[in-house]
Amino acid sequence: MSSSVDEVVDLCRDLLRIDTTNTGDNATSAGERAAAEYVAEKLAEVGVSSEIHESAPGRASLVARIPGTDPGRGALLVHGHLDVVPAEAAEWSVPPFAGEIKDGFLWGRGAIDMKDFDAMVLAVVREWQRTGVRPPRDIVLAFTADEEAGGDFGAHFLVDKHRHLLDGCTEGIGEVGGFSYTVSKDLRLYLIETAEKGINWLRLHARGRPGHGSMVHDDNAVTALAEAVARVGRHRFPVVVTPTVRAFLEEVSEALGIELDPDDPEAAIGKLGTIANIIGATVRNTANPTRLDAGYKDNVIPSRASATIDCRTLPGQADLFLEQLREVIGPDVEIEHVQRQPALETTFDGALVDAMAAALRAEDPAARPVPYMLSGGTDAKAFNRLGIRCFGFAPLQLPPDLNFSALFHGIDERVPVEGLQFGVRVLDRFLRNS
Ligand SMILES: [Zn+2]
Repeated sequence: MSSSVDEVVDLCRDLLRIDTTNTGDNATSAGERAAAEYVAEKLAEVGVSSEIHESAPGRASLVARIPGTDPGRGALLVHGHLDVVPAEAAEWSVPPFAGEIKDGFLWGRGAIDMKDFDAMVLAVVREWQRTGVRPPRDIVLAFTADEEAGGDFGAHFLVDKHRHLLDGCTEGIGEVGGFSYTVSKDLRLYLIETAEKGINWLRLHARGRPGHGSMVHDDNAVTALAEAVARVGRHRFPVVVTPTVRAFLEEVSEALGIELDPDDPEAAIGKLGTIANIIGATVRNTANPTRLDAGYKDNVIPSRASATIDCRTLPGQADLFLEQLREVIGPDVEIEHVQRQPALETTFDGALVDAMAAALRAEDPAARPVPYMLSGGTDAKAFNRLGIRCFGFAPLQLPPDLNFSALFHGIDERVPVEGLQFGVRVLDRFLRNS
């Protein structure tokens, strides 16, 4: 067994033990600096120098470059975030920051999102440095802060303030792709992310006449806001099948022997078991109310009320979506844009995709790579601003019965040890041939 396969579990375990909880508040996001320093040390041990940059005290991201044999080729960006979402220890069956190994899994917040991949990247690079392997083209490593709160203090900061570190990067790989979905012992789909939905966080503001809560009152901001929020929350936006989702559904329908009705893709998605959650949100724009804010006293009608709506838009749909949303909300409620990042979509073809497929098949003869769209957003949104063509490819083989999507930000997040080791082997092959 190669030493990268030996080492990946220890590296991941060390990273899990550094609590990098991202609360969305700089004052309480503490561990990213320690994690970046850990990564720097593991790279320095094998002769790779790196730079750590802070966007705010403690909000540290690290970049390093591994020179390739052909400097004429565009560089490949390999990125992983170091932060994690909070974990409520009382809800877990193991302490979330202890890095325990049991039942064939390594447990902890960040085990699949995404310290697993961070550890794989470190393991491969360390092995290469020890044995003198050089990749065909430059590889730029980016370990980022703040992905879980939108990346303003991590990937977007790097792109805005230190973009020279990413010079020459033409393509990139990062999280939420490359994981397996077992159809049968002879067929495992590996979902490779080629698209992700756009983010549009909106705040709705309703205004009315302030007054006493005991009076007759026909212009109440809380009532107006509540009506608009309820309409949005219940609304289903129309089905739109983008090229990525169409390709996914065609591949998967064929693989599973499911009848696919192009006019009713949700019928096919309903038969996908644990990945239905991931795919279901990618056939339409969505708008979910997430916060409400109004009033300051029980018997006072306030003059204003506001709500936050988490909207996710399909590629090419952002403007049309806003028109549709305006119709649902009505003319009297104001819409404020809080956070807006575009959707991404690239094609499932080319030498890089071929290298992913070849690496998967070499390690798993039952592998069948398929493109898919992520309903969430990743650091790829920041890196895409530089024109980098981004994929979600953090290879991982999963046991057939594991509900992978439920583990993201979930209780008892854990990664299968064998799956992690499989991932290292695939990543090593892929990076050697990319
Ligand atoms: Zn993540």
